[in-house]
Amino acid sequence: MQFLRADRVFNGVDFLPNESVLIIDEHGALHDILDVAAIDPGKIQTLKGVICPGFVNAHCHTELSHLKNKIPQKTGLAGFGKQIIFQRNTSSKEEIKEKIKQADNDMWINGIVAVGDICNTDDSLETKTQSKIHYHSFIELLGLHPDRAALVFEAGVLLYNQIKGLGLNVSLAPHAPYSTSKDLIEKISAFNSERGLPSSIHNQETEDETKFFHGIENGFYDLYKFLQLDISWFKAPMMSSLKYYLEALGSQRTILVHNSFSTKEDIELASKKNVYWCFCPNANKYIEDRLPGFDLFTSLKNRICLGTDSLASNTQLDLVREADLFFSNSGYSEEDVLRSMTSIPAEALGIQDEFGKLIKGKNAGLNLIEFKNRNIRFVKKLIP
Ligand SMILES: [Zn+2]
Repeated sequence: MQFLRADRVFNGVDFLPNESVLIIDEHGALHDILDVAAIDPGKIQTLKGVICPGFVNAHCHTELSHLKNKIPQKTGLAGFGKQIIFQRNTSSKEEIKEKIKQADNDMWINGIVAVGDICNTDDSLETKTQSKIHYHSFIELLGLHPDRAALVFEAGVLLYNQIKGLGLNVSLAPHAPYSTSKDLIEKISAFNSERGLPSSIHNQETEDETKFFHGIENGFYDLYKFLQLDISWFKAPMMSSLKYYLEALGSQRTILVHNSFSTKEDIELASKKNVYWCFCPNANKYIEDRLPGFDLFTSLKNRICLGTDSLASNTQLDLVREADLFFSNSGYSEEDVLRSMTSIPAEALGIQDEFGKLIKGKNAGLNLIEFKNRNIRFVKKLIP
């Protein structure tokens, strides 16, 4: 047994009383939380900083790990998308799989214990079946033309069955409003709803998305021309992308990722649905050189998650670096920020009984961090 005490202990939801001591068994599971007076002082290890549960990364693409340092920064999303298409398949399968394994190991070292991971292929499955990290795979589907919905959906279900067959958690997810038809989003929502599974969609990551839905010249026209996709049939609905697809989401939990250009009106509208707002601030800096209006979301702070996005759009998969950027550019409290990297993303992924909190009888990971002014620093993992 280990007896751990620190300046402060955060249980995933709140700070515990200062006298709290965590008793951790030989498997890393929480045995009990007792008052310091009840324990032999010689047994207690006292740490400087804040003890908190293992981190839950709500949004990642481990499949893109081989693109680290390969995509120029600050090109805007359409330019970034073009680069991904150019470079994605220039590495061998072996190299892609090796980089996924490395990314998995990096996240583990950085205190991450669970991840919502986007996949378009089966490249990450070898790593996921062997990993110490818990993964929820979101199979990402793309197809803007409504006629393609059935075909794309069927291919998604095939990969779903493959991943589920390996005993891994999985669901379907539309890529983004500018790349997925409402018909396809509806099919995905119905599939996930029937099974009680969460979904995810990239939302309002760039101003070009807003322009696209208002029929104003934008970077996606260029991207689709480059892809030789005729989108002359697409009639801009003259409303925000979020407003356009919201009804198609159904009632299942959906993680809206990025939200850099979401307006107050969008946020109010979407909050009537079962949505979680995920920020990946370092990726927003990387691609668009812009941060979301974090403080627009204060009334929904119990629905905010953090994610790292991929190594194609970030220089590290370190949730504390995301939390640090979020915290230093907003008015949220320490508790709010800690919840957004523990209990809230766990709830969004449906793994709240296993991760994101200090749960008796469970090993949900244990990290030591430090707050200094409006900055957060990772100190170490407390359970190897
Ligand atoms: Zn993403």
